[in-house]
Amino acid sequence: MNRHLLRMAALALILSSAPPLVARGGEAITDAGAVRERISADISASLSHASTAPATRPLTSRPAVLGVKHTPPPAAPAAAIVSAPPDTTPDGIWSDLLAGNRRFVADHPNARPYTRERDQLVGDQHPRAIVLGCADSRVSPELVFDQSLGDLFVVRTAGNIVDPIALGSLEYAVEHLHAHLLVVLGHTSCSAVKSAVAGGEMPSSYLQAIVDRIRPTVQRLSNCFEGDELVERSVIANARQSAADIVSNSALLRAAVSKGQLKVMSAVYDLRSGVVTSVSAPAASAVAQVPGH
Ligand SMILES: [Zn+2]
Repeated sequence: MNRHLLRMAALALILSSAPPLVARGGEAITDAGAVRERISADISASLSHASTAPATRPLTSRPAVLGVKHTPPPAAPAAAIVSAPPDTTPDGIWSDLLAGNRRFVADHPNARPYTRERDQLVGDQHPRAIVLGCADSRVSPELVFDQSLGDLFVVRTAGNIVDPIALGSLEYAVEHLHAHLLVVLGHTSCSAVKSAVAGGEMPSSYLQAIVDRIRPTVQRLSNCFEGDELVERSVIANARQSAADIVSNSALLRAAVSKGQLKVMSAVYDLRSGVVTSVSAPAASAVAQVPGH
């Protein structure tokens, strides 16, 4: 018999000689006999449920009888909450970015305490990842990966291509900010890639420079594909090519990859679904993605 039943049995004995005013759940019970019947019913009910009631059922779930409050047992010390340290390896960071992308796709982004984060980031920054993305307004890396201030070092150019200024920016993030993952993020229906597929002269030398950088990739695929399929396959190939260009053109970044301090990968964002998918070459290591592979 548990403590609750013992308490009620003791109260029944007391009531047999002293009939007080009883209130139970707002119901007035003025007759001692009725009280004893109620307690007996409680005991019977408790016995009938003894085999199924959870062992941890709190005493306070039972109604107070005779104005005597059940004293809940002292709370057991809360188990220490031990959270695993964040995985700071490139693969761990990528997994975290994909988890953020799933939140974005599901329309459940994390709440952001921006005021506190701004204060914490005033003096320094330690972005976990670098993203070279297209400047397209529909492909904001922080939103796509559900990241916050200070999480991503982002460089964006039309067609996510690499020029000297972009490469210098990426080098800064690796050399001075010590980021260990660099993601080239292309996207479906990229206008820069479409322009390269369409061919023809662009209205300015600067626009032409963008298309000229993508066109060799498109030409390699144009013998096998055409139309929309050529565009989407070129998007993937262009992201891979930019990853290869980064490593082949920057001795600093190439050395970081060789030392295992940096992983360069490529991915594509789907404008319709919001899903980001890795499209890195099977070897994964950017060292193996130098031009010619
Ligand atoms: Zn684009």
